[in-house]
Amino acid sequence: MKKNFIYHMGIILLLASCLSSPSQDHKATASVDSAIDSPNFIIILVDDMGYSDVGFNGCKDIPTPNIDRIAKNGVVFTEGYVTYAVCGPSRAGLITGRYQDRFGFGRNPLLAPKDASMGLPLSEKTIADAVKPIGYTSKIIGKWHLGAHESLHPLNRGFDEFYGFLSGGHRYFPEEWTLHDLSEARSQWDGYRTKLLDNYTRVDEKEYLTDALSREAVDFIERKANTPFFLYLAYNAPHAPLQATETYLERFPNITNPKRKTYAAMVSAVDDGVGRVLDALEQSNITENTMVVFLSDNGGPEQNNGSDNGILRGGKGDYYEGGIRVPFAMQWPGKIPAGTTFEHPVISLDIFATMADMVGYVASKEHALDGVNLLPYLGGENHGIPHEYLFWRNFDAQKFAARSIDYKLWKSKKSNELYHIKSDVGEQDNVLKANQNIHESMEKATMEWEDQMMDPVFLGLLQGQEYDTENPSRWVDWE
Ligand code: CA
Repeated sequence: MKKNFIYHMGIILLLASCLSSPSQDHKATASVDSAIDSPNFIIILVDDMGYSDVGFNGCKDIPTPNIDRIAKNGVVFTEGYVTYAVCGPSRAGLITGRYQDRFGFGRNPLLAPKDASMGLPLSEKTIADAVKPIGYTSKIIGKWHLGAHESLHPLNRGFDEFYGFLSGGHRYFPEEWTLHDLSEARSQWDGYRTKLLDNYTRVDEKEYLTDALSREAVDFIERKANTPFFLYLAYNAPHAPLQATETYLERFPNITNPKRKTYAAMVSAVDDGVGRVLDALEQSNITENTMVVFLSDNGGPEQNNGSDNGILRGGKGDYYEGGIRVPFAMQWPGKIPAGTTFEHPVISLDIFATMADMVGYVASKEHALDGVNLLPYLGGENHGIPHEYLFWRNFDAQKFAARSIDYKLWKSKKSNELYHIKSDVGEQDNVLKANQNIHESMEKATMEWEDQMMDPVFLGLLQGQEYDTENPSRWVDWE
């Protein structure tokens, strides 16, 4: 009975926190004027990396000494989540700090460069929008995937600089970038073959894609070392297609599975890039004043790219842990004790909320952030747990998940499952029957959360045919 009471109290607290927006809490502790040291922020997002494919999560066959530096310098989140199990919606959640279903981004967008509604709605504010008025320079390097229409271009979403591509993925070798522009695209996957964009200009990049993105990151850090910056370094590696250079492949003579070998090489290229970024911070003497976060946008699609989610069940696309629990680490010397392991649920939404508190950004009620500032929990000032509940929805499949401190609810049209996730991280033992009260509480909380969500505002990858029927000029009639 006591447990039941605690869970009901949890729901009441959750509802209370939803009614009084988190932004009001921010107001009490900070304002724009009180931003003292204007720290720099770097988010390094990788694509489709498995939970167990970094050294700090126990990877054995792919050394990641540089990504591990972030963990050693700061904190490993063993229960770090993203807001969706595929790329687009997860990125929309990360960059707005809000559950993406609040604004109808419940699908993976199609490549539709002429469609202003295919991407992050203009009603939403990005992290770059938030820090711009207080003097930050923001750059996104790599994969955007939040809209290919001109109005949705990163430079119209708060960013000052962009180097990369607008589509949901890209090929890695410059000789395969045979399309000058998206106007030459005639299919969804042609977006993988365009030349890269430097702001609005197509460029003749010569380097292997991952190396090029790392180079641009170092260049930006060096140029902006003396003024506050936000760098969103969104590697598309190790997302398919599996393509790596000999330089990286040669590092893995002992991996015999060709898929895993190329995947390992791609991860190794990212790791080199992370090392270059961290070195650039050191050389500019700004390590202490820079928050660096590393995470993947969703779990590994193991069959597809040779990734490894370890003990976790499922992978990309699933709401089992393999789809949404990701490699996640953060460093900020002086703010986060080195060598910390944090073993409570956190989510990508917390990144914006942490940054907001640091710079005194107060979200409006319409843009209330869903995350929390993690620093007090990491610094030992707050011994509580950041989230009573986290939630997920896959609108088209009508699948849901919820995470409480100890339990995980997995819900589809056909079945409900409950796992004591703290002791059963592999989600093997459905304990729903023996824990009806907990199940009811979590389901109720999930449905109350869903009441706040919107239906998707655009058709997604899964509705490509339907979209083309409705939009026969998707690939024609370019000016
Ligand atoms: Ca992804």
